[in-house]
Amino acid sequence: KEKVPSDIEIAMAQTPKPVTRLAGEIGLQPDELESYGKYKAKVELSVLERLAHRKDGKYIVISGITPTPLGEGKSTTTIGLAQAIGAHLGRPAFACVRQPSQGPTFGIKGGAAGGGYSQVIPMDEFNLHLTGDIHAVSAANNLLAAALDARMFHEATQSDKALYSRLVPAKKGKREFAPLMFKRLQKLGIEKTNPDDLTPEEITRFARLDVDPETITWNRVVDVNDRFLRKITIGRNSTEQGHERETGFDIAVASECMAVLALTTGLADMRERLGAMVVATSKQGDPITADDLGVGGALAVLMKDAIKPNLMQTLEGTPVFVHAGPFANIAHGNSSILADRVALKLAGTEQGDSPDRTGFVLTEGGFGADMGMEKFCNIKCRVSGLTPDATVIVATTRALKMHGGGPDVTPGKPLHETYTKENLDILKEGCKNLAKHIENARKFGLKVIVAVNRFSTDSDAELEVVRTEALAAGADAAVVSNHWAEGGAGAVELAKAVVAACENDSNFKFLYDLNTSIEQKISTISKEIYGADGIELSELAQKQVDTYTRQGYGNLPICMAKTQYSFSHDPKLKGVPTGFTIPIRAVRLSAGAGFLYPILGDMQTMPGLGTRPGFWEVGLDHDSGRVVGLF
Ligand code: ADP
Repeated sequence: KEKVPSDIEIAMAQTPKPVTRLAGEIGLQPDELESYGKYKAKVELSVLERLAHRKDGKYIVISGITPTPLGEGKSTTTIGLAQAIGAHLGRPAFACVRQPSQGPTFGIKGGAAGGGYSQVIPMDEFNLHLTGDIHAVSAANNLLAAALDARMFHEATQSDKALYSRLVPAKKGKREFAPLMFKRLQKLGIEKTNPDDLTPEEITRFARLDVDPETITWNRVVDVNDRFLRKITIGRNSTEQGHERETGFDIAVASECMAVLALTTGLADMRERLGAMVVATSKQGDPITADDLGVGGALAVLMKDAIKPNLMQTLEGTPVFVHAGPFANIAHGNSSILADRVALKLAGTEQGDSPDRTGFVLTEGGFGADMGMEKFCNIKCRVSGLTPDATVIVATTRALKMHGGGPDVTPGKPLHETYTKENLDILKEGCKNLAKHIENARKFGLKVIVAVNRFSTDSDAELEVVRTEALAAGADAAVVSNHWAEGGAGAVELAKAVVAACENDSNFKFLYDLNTSIEQKISTISKEIYGADGIELSELAQKQVDTYTRQGYGNLPICMAKTQYSFSHDPKLKGVPTGFTIPIRAVRLSAGAGFLYPILGDMQTMPGLGTRPGFWEVGLDHDSGRVVGLF
């Protein structure tokens, strides 16, 4: 059998078709497209109105077993499946994937364009800046951070009156409130339109946000695995007059601005959500929002283009929407609602169309089904109101073997023979991890298709074990797929299983009721999905839960920040751990995105770089100007 070339070699060998042609093929009109170069375009949201009458296509969320350092090929499978349905079964098929973060691209994982003969192209553009959405998210996030610190500084160094006259400047001899200021007045219950009518007491309340520095939850972000920024002290220059404080950086894709981008349903909604983001609590106990800082409108301006989904293509010329960010461990890690909606309409049918013209939307929910899929169902579908038809859970024999007790892998060292030679016992033990994910998916009423992503070293007997165990655990189908080596042609059987599973409506349901307490919701996910005995809130977490409940945020869904490497909070516990209690270190509020964000165990919101990161391989071929070494 011929050797499969490297991901970037395959990607570079294929010339994509112009994105304008692709857009025509999928039924977009020229004025709905904004090209960024030849092969990428943003799609105008107006297409949603034009196609509002259509019945949506079928909606499938792709996720996997608990990840291991061996990689399971979820992105590869998403793309391979889209190629199989779109280019081999002749049905419309859209892959909706997340824009990769530069952190992992230059860290240990490499890019996220898929791999082998199932990839998004041009893969270098996909993996790097794309159309700048992550940069826009960083810009918005950091403008808000700067606004907060500057405001605290000015409040600390100015009198009420001076503050007020700067915030409400006199124009042409007459003081005026800016529109955003009315919002703040409303919030304070001050019904006045003339700035000169405010009493001294009202002036103080208006001008002083009175941030309690202990309660600040807004970090700065950068899209680099920069571990030394996890905890920093800011304000150290003499110009800040000693107003120092400790803060930190998160990876950009974990910014609430990214979550807003993923969960928003349109421009006006995005503006509201950005303005509603809470950065801290005042000394009086009130939440302080981006709009209180006057910056909500500017944030929306920075993100006005980022809100449009990006259109790209697979190696086989089928459409891919790339939108929002990864990291289903510390973020919600799903592709955007808007990209999914646009795809569902483009894949949808007109009245009178035969049902077998219905297309398919394959959307990625990152990491294991306990992370990406759970958040897809409980957070994303709750906001969008969309109902998924099925889920695909990706598994590989090698990753299952690691869950069955296989040895750890050392980067740079050859793989232990457990992973390259047949070992049915370890594999069978590891299948318990897959079984638990299947059981979890069924709790949401979803049809479950297991995709066994074939590696060249897999034996037929091993592949059969995974299939048998998956079916025994309640999967509706379990299919071996060879799309990495063969492209869409290798995933035709998997594609047929997905099409068949979507024939009947699903019985989709949420796992928890929003109107139970924050603690109860965290506990339900921990017990039902992770298999924990219970949870234990730190003193800080308990205080935060109390504050957010009192402030009226108790009815939001939960976005767990947990290691992706285990059902538990401990990355070392493979397989299906039992007998553990989950420590909740802290709970953050993402009021704009619309969820609460508990931090489990010692989960970090900024990854680090290892000794020999992926960037060692990356460079430019000076003759062609092409990128080499991305994988
Ligand atoms: P995930 O989305 O689960 O993190 P990816 O789809 O990004 O995984 O794949 C991770 C890496 O594994 C990629 O470099 C890809 O080329 C490789 N890979 C995926 N499937 C296979 C396979 N069946 N055989 C060999 N390599 C594969």
